[in-house]
Amino acid sequence: MKGAETIRTESYLAQLRAVATRYDFPLEEIEAVQDIMQWCNERGIEENNSWRVGKCLRNRTNGKYRILLAAEITPEIKNSVLAAMEYRGFGNEVSSLEASEKFLEHLLLHEIAHAKHETWEEKDCDKWAFNELKGPYKGHGSI
Ligand SMILES: [Zn+2]
Repeated sequence: MKGAETIRTESYLAQLRAVATRYDFPLEEIEAVQDIMQWCNERGIEENNSWRVGKCLRNRTNGKYRILLAAEITPEIKNSVLAAMEYRGFGNEVSSLEASEKFLEHLLLHEIAHAKHETWEEKDCDKWAFNELKGPYKGHGSI
């Protein structure tokens, strides 16, 4: 069944790290974390959403960014993330995130957007991420 598998983020980490190298920002690490809320709370970082699938943190010591991604993303959680995007106005775009790797790539790009533009809101980060997913080329006629 389409999109009905739990995403195991670990198996995509190498690919995601390669995507991140295309962007100019100080990256400390991309890490797959079993429970982002718990990870944060153990380190005194405020987080109260137990369904959090991505988070971008800045290391105050070296100024670098650490991107946390949920290690396991169930179909239920994935659908709630996609529903939130639809609600933010990306109803036409969410279908492009059915494949696990595309979903994760968008998630990573969304967090990179937070790192590069700290004042951006969720909608801005989604928009930028969808645009980056399309790649650098635009259709411009063909014979
Ligand atoms: Zn966000």
